[in-house]
Amino acid sequence: MGLIADTILSYLPAKRKHTPSGWISFNAPCCQDKRQRGGFIKNGDEALSYHCFNCGFKASWQPGRTVSQKMSKLMRLLNIPDDIISQLRLEALRLNENSNASVRQVIPKFEERALPMDAKSLEEWSTWIELQGWENADQELINIFCYLRNVRGLDPYGYQYYWTNKIGFKNRVIIPFYKDGVCVGYTARAINDAKPKYISEQQPGYVFNLDRQSYDRNFVIVSEGPFDALSIDGCALLGAEIKDSQNWLLKQLGKEIILVPDRDHEGPRTVEQAVEYGWSVSMPEWPDGIKDINDAVVKLGRLATLWMILDAKESNSLKIQLRAKKWFKE
Ligand SMILES: [Zn+2]
Repeated sequence: MGLIADTILSYLPAKRKHTPSGWISFNAPCCQDKRQRGGFIKNGDEALSYHCFNCGFKASWQPGRTVSQKMSKLMRLLNIPDDIISQLRLEALRLNENSNASVRQVIPKFEERALPMDAKSLEEWSTWIELQGWENADQELINIFCYLRNVRGLDPYGYQYYWTNKIGFKNRVIIPFYKDGVCVGYTARAINDAKPKYISEQQPGYVFNLDRQSYDRNFVIVSEGPFDALSIDGCALLGAEIKDSQNWLLKQLGKEIILVPDRDHEGPRTVEQAVEYGWSVSMPEWPDGIKDINDAVVKLGRLATLWMILDAKESNSLKIQLRAKKWFKE
């Protein structure tokens, strides 16, 4: 800890003083100073700045940066041996590489992805129907509208849903994944009992519906499935596991993160992870016949559902664990 800063400071002239504001001042080696107008100040454990109040020479170093030419020059002026200077430069480089590697691992990059062939948004299909007439519309397209409206309780135009009549996507509503307005994947959900339920093109670490979290709420509700997220304007993990990069993306929102787990065999593991990441968890006492957020919105409405989620939210890890034991058993 603080190896670089401490090493540099250990070479300061014996004649020096510590000011109340945290400066260590001494005769500046950068000029002919005899009035202790050169000063170092530490920022935290490791970062270090030098300022000469005589000639104005400045140099600084902080973790994640390489050692600058100016800092090297200053070290030579302080009579730090060349081999020590090279060691410090190497150490700075090593820290720099480590910090970049760990940040790279967590910050996911998403590439633009195309939707299935000939997929059109429901708005585009509506225009098509107006021009061609309902009698020419595919029954399947009408089923998609009904599924969203009646089964899911969602406005078919409330999100950019897509549909295609191409083979492979029969009876599926396509939900594009957006990030910063760019389509980076999708899932195609069967509207009947077809298997698999979802056909997805998903990049690792993606969080669904992040783009819509900009409004004034001071919390973000996180669920597993996209329809749960869409019905309350929350986010979805699109799986039972919380990835490091998903945690990172959600934390960037600066809001309280509230997980509403699926009440199935994988739910307890998701809750465990949420606790490790410091999230809150809500396991609401859903009325009979309701098993998830989307169900609740269909049967109780959005406001009551949100209220139940917020009412049941818990941030204390011990209380979450106790609640989970009961909630998953029932
Ligand atoms: Zn100076």
